[in-house]
Amino acid sequence: MDFSQYGDDIQAQLQMVTLLHRSDSKRSRTICESLLVTGEELKDNTLMGFAYYYLAESHFVENEYPLFVSNLLLGLKYQLQPPAPSLLAKSYNMLGINATYAGDISMAMDHYLNSLQYAEQVGAPYALAIANFNIGMLYHDLTDMEAAIAFLKKALAGFEASPPTEDRQRNMSLTYSALASCHLEAGDTVSALRYFEQQDKKRDKMHGDALITALSFEIKYYHAVGDHPRWNAAVEAMLTTIENAASWLGVFDDLFLLCGFLHKVGYFDQLWRLLCAMEALIFQSDITDMMLKFITYKACYYQGKGLQEEYLSACAEYFALSKRLEKENQVSMKNNIKLREDLEKIKTKQQQMQTENMLLLDKSRRDFLTNLPNREWLNEYAEAAFSRAFQSRTRLAIEILDIDKFKQYNDTLGHMAGDRYLQALSNLLHALIERGLFCARHGGDEFVIIYENRTDSEVLEIAESLRQDVMTLSLAERDGGDPYPSITVSQGICSSLPMPWERLWDYFHAADQALYRAKSTGRNAIRLTPFLSEAGRKPKDGPAV
Ligand code: GH3
Ligand code: MG
Repeated sequence: MDFSQYGDDIQAQLQMVTLLHRSDSKRSRTICESLLVTGEELKDNTLMGFAYYYLAESHFVENEYPLFVSNLLLGLKYQLQPPAPSLLAKSYNMLGINATYAGDISMAMDHYLNSLQYAEQVGAPYALAIANFNIGMLYHDLTDMEAAIAFLKKALAGFEASPPTEDRQRNMSLTYSALASCHLEAGDTVSALRYFEQQDKKRDKMHGDALITALSFEIKYYHAVGDHPRWNAAVEAMLTTIENAASWLGVFDDLFLLCGFLHKVGYFDQLWRLLCAMEALIFQSDITDMMLKFITYKACYYQGKGLQEEYLSACAEYFALSKRLEKENQVSMKNNIKLREDLEKIKTKQQQMQTENMLLLDKSRRDFLTNLPNREWLNEYAEAAFSRAFQSRTRLAIEILDIDKFKQYNDTLGHMAGDRYLQALSNLLHALIERGLFCARHGGDEFVIIYENRTDSEVLEIAESLRQDVMTLSLAERDGGDPYPSITVSQGICSSLPMPWERLWDYFHAADQALYRAKSTGRNAIRLTPFLSEAGRKPKDGPAV
């Protein structure tokens, strides 16, 4: 993110939060709270969106789940308002994680796709890689391994191209493990091992969820290939890791999968150790869907061990949790609908503002009387056309068109009639704009036409046709009661291939000189010069038409 618009003090705070939000969530939270006060004072959407987002992240790190969700949603409302929505990709990603925890896969997919779209829109490759990873994981959960592998590969490429940070290292490990798991589940043990070995090289640096996913793959892999000693060792390593891990909520699926495995193969003691290690964090998270899964395995354990009384009490707990989930789902459905409506409203408002701004900008760049681009837009366009032509070695022609004896017309028929005439002539130029040419009012009775990548004969053909049309126009405009000679125009054109020593100004100067010659040799004429005067070459007209 670009913080340069802020003073040193705010910049330092923003920088600190981006650095600390994972490692020191408490400090990050305190700074965010102070940023919220500043943001409120300054009425600054960017600051508010930023502070709420990272406040949400700090609660996420601390497993304060409900606070995480509420801050995330508050942040989104600010991020969806102007200016640039740079944190939207991250927020939608977090919303996706939230939906995954609640077991709502289609909602999660929706959020991840939004994240993908915003990451593309603001050009954030790292956020794009994260979105691809999460979509890949959803496809994995849906057992569509082909789609999962495609997204995970995109994610891996994105992470590989990102600067080497600890977070990127962790995400790369997760992606290698995920790719290995997908291949394993698709029955391709060779590719699975290939991906796994890539990440296994970094094993000594691994910790937290990266290590857990790696071990999870090992357990599945050694089980699939029937290597029991290694399978046992991997299970033991996993249990030790979980018993010592501060958090593993990000990879809870792997752990439930492991519970399933241990139950299936009758490793009840290990299953019990795992459940004991998981219990505190599961209940602290207060996520019903997770608690329900947890209780299921606990019940499985009691059943396997023949502990009837405990089994029945786990079943009762399961029943109570299902009821709670049912209620929660109703509330969350309502909340989701409300959230969607809110987001839609903000989006629509944002689009309206964008359209209004575009219209205002467009209006400020047009001449009031003729609605043609004004001189400011002309200068901008001409500069760009000149560098395009120079870079692509293509021809550029600039025409200055001036109405002949227009003062007389005004003096005879009045200024209003003059205005009407200028509008009628401009309609001919608007028609040329529709054909892809650039036309502008240079000022007074003078207009400019820019021809890009056209031969001299093409330029002359268009200019000549315009000259003829103008004469017809004059006839049509003639006042029946008071005949007025048909109005004509003079056109000076400079058409050339831009050279390194030439400037746009040379084109205008040469076109102006060509116009002067058209005027001085009787008007109602076109003069095209292929030369620029600045290069020390005397301007010389091409064929007169
Ligand atoms: P020439 O053939 O040499 O170009 O003669 P001209 O009379 O067209 O030249 P001059 O530059 O002396 O006059 C331009 C006239 O254009 C002056 C003014 O009356 C008229 N004009 C400039 N802007 C407007 C405008 O916005 N509305 C109207 N009605 N007339 C305008
Ligand atoms: Mg004139």
